[in-house]
Parts: sequence; C-alpha cells; structure tokens
Amino acid sequence: MLTERIWSGNSLRNFHYLIACAETGEALAVDPLEWRMCLDAARRRGWEITQILNTHEHTDHTGGNAGLKAATKAKVAAHAGAAERIGGVDRGLKKGDVIRVGRTVELECLDTPGHTMTHVCLLSHTDEPALFCGDTLFNAGAGNCFNGGQPEALYDTFVTQLARLPDSTRVYPGHEYLARNLEFTLDREPGNEDAAALLTQARQHDPAAARVTTLAEEKRINTFFRLQNPRVIARLREAFPDIGEHPDAKTVFVRLRELRNRW
Ligand SMILES: [Zn+2]
Ligand SMILES: [Zn+2]
Repeated sequence: MLTERIWSGNSLRNFHYLIACAETGEALAVDPLEWRMCLDAARRRGWEITQILNTHEHTDHTGGNAGLKAATKAKVAAHAGAAERIGGVDRGLKKGDVIRVGRTVELECLDTPGHTMTHVCLLSHTDEPALFCGDTLFNAGAGNCFNGGQPEALYDTFVTQLARLPDSTRVYPGHEYLARNLEFTLDREPGNEDAAALLTQARQHDPAAARVTTLAEEKRINTFFRLQNPRVIARLREAFPDIGEHPDAKTVFVRLRELRNRW
C-alpha cells in the first residue's frame, strides 16, 4: 500500500490522502477538497484515481467530488446514511465493508459516529496499520460535535473502537491542528512532557512535513485518550466541581469536549 498525504495549504488546514496499489497504480482519494492538487499528485506518481472516499458529509470533505469525478470518472463511496446528503454517491458503506484498491490494497470501513452520526474511518490491515480518520480523531485532539454530532457517541467511538486498535496504527486525520491541540492537552495537564516536547517541534514545522503520529503516541499526548489520568481529572474538577471525585470516563470526555468548544 502506497500512501501520499497532500497538504492543502488552505485556511481549513485540510489534509488529503491518496492510497494506491503498488502493482496497478490505481488510487483512492480521501476527502479531496482541493481536487486539482490530488490529481496533480497522482499524475506525478503515475497513479490513476479510480475511487473517492468521503469520511463524512461536511462540504470541506465532499466539495471536491464533482471536479475530481469529472476529471477521472472515479466512483464515490461514503457512509450509506450520508449518501443522500452528499449526492452523487456510487457506493453506500456500512461497518465491516471492505474497499479494494487495485490488486493489493484492502481497507476496512469502521462506523465511527460522533463528529457526525454518519462518519466512516478506513483501516488498513498492513504490517503498520493506518487509520484514515477524517474529523473523528485529530493528532492530539478530537473532532467537534457542532454540526450534526454527539459527544457521547464520539466517546463511545474513541473507547470501543479507536483505543482498541494496535498501538502501531498510524493516524491520518482530515485536518492539521497539532499545535493548537497540544496546547489544549497542556492546558488540561500542564505536566505532560511528551506533549510539551512535541509542541516545540509542532510550532516550527512545515505542515506539509508534519509528523505522522501513532496510536501509542496519541495515548500519551491526546487528552481525549487520558480520561483516567488523575491530573486531568483534578484539573477538570476545578472547572466542573459537580463531577465529583471519581467521574466516569464518559463524563470526563464530554466535559473535556465542552471545554475545548470554548477554548
Ligand atoms: Zn467535519
Ligand atoms: Zn473537516
């Protein structure tokens, strides 16, 4: 499986991805908003884009479908429940479906509600698994739930699906928000040395060369995976005394998400 991450350079800070078969050169484009950049990248690599995947229905992920489809005749796949809202979807996806790219690439669809209630992530079953997670999980952060989502569902997705993936899973989100998210982690847990060290790097980096985190790393630097951490809980109680001394993990997640909304 060949993966190319394309930094949009736009104000929304989108990341796009091409996932290609090394044998046939067929490629899948993930959330190709700036579709001409995706087409150019595919041409440079000698790949042919034959499929488009939308992780969810927001227009900053679907807005490139028409242009890229017209240029390549690629087929569009998206969550079955989002197909009508997106329009022009050729394949509605459900949990457990497999997307094949060329002869060698197989990607499993995970049904991952929370940011919206019709959101899929793609998981590759390769030696180093890769997760294309749209706006569900960001590097050091979690998606918001403003536009059709529910924080309780996002919590369930984090705990029952994402946290159980192999630690070596590489995380490929839909946007680049690393520095801002690390600042939030440090605001919630000032002693987090891993987050502090990475923030120094993240503030200097070129987003086009941003580091790809693994799930093991996310569990150290992403406050939304650190729901049992005593320092996170103690600090959260300063903002929400009503949660008591031993809040459950869901309460911690939902209140962290609430703080992040206005932070
Ligand atoms: Zn979104
Ligand atoms: Zn987005």
